[in-house]
Amino acid sequence: MEVISPAKTDIKSLLPEELAQAFEQLSLPRYRAKQVFRWLSRGAAHFEEMSDLPKDLRALLSEQFEIRSAEVEVKRVSRDGTIKYLFRLLDGEMVESVLMEYRHGISICISTQVGCKMGCDFCATGRSGFSRNLTASEILSQIQAAQLDSGKTVSNVVLMGMGEPLDNYENVLRFLDLVSHPDGMNIGMRHISLSTCGLVDKIYDLSEKKLQLTLSVSLHAPNDEIRDRTMPVNRRWNIESLIRACRHYAQVTGRRISFEYALIRGVNDSDDCARELASRLKGMLAHVNLIPVNAVEGTSYHKSEVARQHRFVEILSSRGIACTVRRTLGSDIEASCGQLRRRHEGGNEL
Ligand code: SAH
Ligand code: SF4
Repeated sequence: MEVISPAKTDIKSLLPEELAQAFEQLSLPRYRAKQVFRWLSRGAAHFEEMSDLPKDLRALLSEQFEIRSAEVEVKRVSRDGTIKYLFRLLDGEMVESVLMEYRHGISICISTQVGCKMGCDFCATGRSGFSRNLTASEILSQIQAAQLDSGKTVSNVVLMGMGEPLDNYENVLRFLDLVSHPDGMNIGMRHISLSTCGLVDKIYDLSEKKLQLTLSVSLHAPNDEIRDRTMPVNRRWNIESLIRACRHYAQVTGRRISFEYALIRGVNDSDDCARELASRLKGMLAHVNLIPVNAVEGTSYHKSEVARQHRFVEILSSRGIACTVRRTLGSDIEASCGQLRRRHEGGNEL
């Protein structure tokens, strides 16, 4: 017996082909699906807004489908122009996104899950637990809502907000198809970065797709002893297996891997750590992004001294490893992911 679900179909997660099929089943012409896809890609939150559709068609669509959108719950604007959003989703869950202005355009950092299961010790999101995966439409909605609110056009997307993108693999791949679709937002893969804490099995799966996006790997330690302590995922896949997967990824896709390394005073910023890191990455198509760690309430982690940061760069560079210290934007508005939601919801400080 067929089980009939009362839930409406999440229309913005459908690819154009799937939307056309769904419309065909409702005996609607194909061009209507194209029209609706365009509206959805521009961020229409209600069928009522779709002014070039007949009224009865809008009514039919709202019976069959729901549009998952994101509403601005809190907005903070930094002195440097960075905007941090806390968005409310249809079911009341909240996620964070950060809009940043660079010389080469507007970048947005978006979330892929409500919370995260990975439990990294230095991360505000990791310390707040996991609630649920985001749908492809909810990932997309963050970009659309930020564009509509700010009046700016996003040119680069980084999946570096709350959550572990490779732990929500199917929805994230669907989002990538949607956001890069020429009939949709048309943001090319070369303008997209995906950051992972190192889910090795999924890195192999992703390499098969041969996408032109930038893979960022949150390494944050040069050896298992330190990484086991700060990132529980390392107990499942250790550094050696992670680096092997990264080498494979770079080889198969021809794309340079970007390694994230948060410099934490007295934890992972010694000369020995820099040397060990350099030898791990030797000969790989890679770039290291050094980030002075953002202090998070409830942790005892602090940024490395500036002199230490320079020394770390010097050691990596002298060993032929490309690296930069990342400029911190929005530090006055708690732009580091997970911080705003924790504060807003209150009561769940660990
Ligand atoms: N889950 C993915 C992507 C989201 S986290 C990942 O871990 O890669 C985005 C980035 O912020 C990661 O590189 C993460 O390690 C880093 N990060 C988390 N907390 C931080 C903090 N307190 N200071 C600096 N970077 C932090
Ligand atoms: Fe999750 Fe990334 Fe935070 Fe780790 S750093 S807890 S993987 S969001």
